[in-house]
Amino acid sequence: MVTTSATASLAPLDILNEVFGYSDFRGPQQAIVEHLIAGHDALVLMPTGGGKSLCYQVPAIARQRAGKGVTIVVSPLIALMHDQVGALHEAGVEAAFLNSTLSAEESSQLERRLLRADLTLLYAAPERINTPRMRGLLASLHERGLLSLFAIDEAHCVSQWGHDFRPEYRSLSLLHEEFPDVPRVALTATADALTRQDMLERLQLQEAQQFISSFDRPNIRYRLVEKTDPLKQLLRFIQTEHEEEAGIVYCQSRKRVEDVAEQLQAAGVAALAYHAGLDSRLRQERQDRFLREDAIVMVATIAFGMGIDKPDVRFVAHLDMPKNIEGYYQETGRAGRDGLAADAWMCYGLQDVVNQRRMIDTSEVASEEFKQVMRGKLDALLTLAESTSCRRVSLLAYFGEPSQPCMNCDNCLTPPAVWDATEAGRKLLSCIYRVEQASGLHFGAGHLMDILRGKSTEKMLQHGHHKLSTFGIGADVSEAQWRGVLRQLIARNMVRVDPEAFNTLTLLPEARSLLRGQGQLLLREQGTVRAGSRKREVKTSTRGLAEASLNAGALERLKRLKAWRAEVAREHNLPAFIIFNDATLRAVAERDPQQLSDLEGVSGIGSKKMHAYGAEVLRVCTAAG
Ligand code: ADP
Ligand code: ZN
Repeated sequence: MVTTSATASLAPLDILNEVFGYSDFRGPQQAIVEHLIAGHDALVLMPTGGGKSLCYQVPAIARQRAGKGVTIVVSPLIALMHDQVGALHEAGVEAAFLNSTLSAEESSQLERRLLRADLTLLYAAPERINTPRMRGLLASLHERGLLSLFAIDEAHCVSQWGHDFRPEYRSLSLLHEEFPDVPRVALTATADALTRQDMLERLQLQEAQQFISSFDRPNIRYRLVEKTDPLKQLLRFIQTEHEEEAGIVYCQSRKRVEDVAEQLQAAGVAALAYHAGLDSRLRQERQDRFLREDAIVMVATIAFGMGIDKPDVRFVAHLDMPKNIEGYYQETGRAGRDGLAADAWMCYGLQDVVNQRRMIDTSEVASEEFKQVMRGKLDALLTLAESTSCRRVSLLAYFGEPSQPCMNCDNCLTPPAVWDATEAGRKLLSCIYRVEQASGLHFGAGHLMDILRGKSTEKMLQHGHHKLSTFGIGADVSEAQWRGVLRQLIARNMVRVDPEAFNTLTLLPEARSLLRGQGQLLLREQGTVRAGSRKREVKTSTRGLAEASLNAGALERLKRLKAWRAEVAREHNLPAFIIFNDATLRAVAERDPQQLSDLEGVSGIGSKKMHAYGAEVLRVCTAAG
């Protein structure tokens, strides 16, 4: 086919090859790109690591080359704009960010470049978009026909049902009102049906075409374990499966983050703490270290992680139960973006449920409707934690996606033993009932379990509870099992924990059916494996996998290439993976290039990178070892 270079360079696939060095679009990328280039609106739902950035970057380049001006990317993360723009520069794309770190002079200079149509992409935070100055700038660009596309990243932030609501996102609907003819694309990695609907309405994107990818992340192994000694459990997990690898540990509170980071450090793990209470310089510094160094474990609150696109995070651990499945899935999705094996590990206990419930119940800012939705979401997560079937099937079902058992989660790999807790559930419910009848008081979980297990404590005698008909009727059930039963009853809305009255338990109307003999409670037996199903020997550690199939020569080259990459990354003040990712270096090392043309077609080497680094890469590869 003979085409002039001017027309060829507008084709999406050419742009993908030439600029990014990739040979094919993935999944729905091509359809999305074409839709946007044609000037239509779109909603893109793709899991983390699915490749959302290219969905607007390729159209931005195509439209800029066609004289349509700049694409404005709304992104909530000022701290990451530098790296995002750096990655585009490495690929030879004219991009910039506009945020509060720029001086007045730098801002004006940027504005002049925009009006000269010199830029392909401009990143800005939502609060910046809303300033009168920015509005004015957008209006002048629009007048000149130089406002090409709006890309709204992390679009779920617009909805209060989502897990990281940002009020500044609300005013983005003004973009549509002011510039109705400029196409818009909203992108997110998470949204249940309710959030999705809300997002479309808030952004006035009801008419936009929706591109929804599968949310499955097959390389992530989900494991949810019961909390016994959380720190010890975590340490064992890291030391036996992820030594010297990058990971994220999520904790509920700032104090816990500090504690856990300290204890991991004491145990020799390269851990850093991150939460919103730290000074912003320190936060930036730690985030940079996480991105730039190889094996940092970041211990953090959920303030950390959005927009972090480090591809080689090998595990995400939750030391406390998150608020809901959306948050959990988004957070765990930060593991294994490079497609290699990764772990999502969580430990949870009754106290987590109680704490989360308390936070919802005692919130003064939320309406009753809001609290109701939040309780429902917490219950769904608890049900997932207690479930005995495939975790992935449950997770994907939550996002409306049917699937088959995955053979890559704890329940598939080591099916838990199941015990019929229906009778125990009834005993617990009726015990709560009897106690209330007898004394008109409510009691906490500990005392109720003592009654069921028939323990003659001081409190027992004081209240005369040893005379109740339910005293000692559950001695055959262990305390751990009783806790599981109680969690399940809370999850099913049969029992309420009252945070304002010493976590005492009260029966709810839902309890009636079970008390009446209807329904069944099947629970996982903690710490046991189903009889007959021998625990499969599973190699969970992903370490060494990436290098496994390389011969000695290639391994040696890979080592030299990584050292060279680290140097370049330092010089450019960018994370190493932005220069070349591991997969690209691996492919180069495997090819054993002897001349420049041997590097052609390696995934991840576009024309700018070939030009900038080709000769160096060749030199590093052919240098005598
Ligand atoms: P997301 O924003 O959806 O989490 P990214 O845009 O960061 O994902 O992409 C994840 C990784 O996949 C990046 O390293 C990106 O360069 C790579 N990638 C995306 N699309 C392609 C493609 N078509 N071919 C090869 N690699 C791709
Ligand atoms: Zn499974």
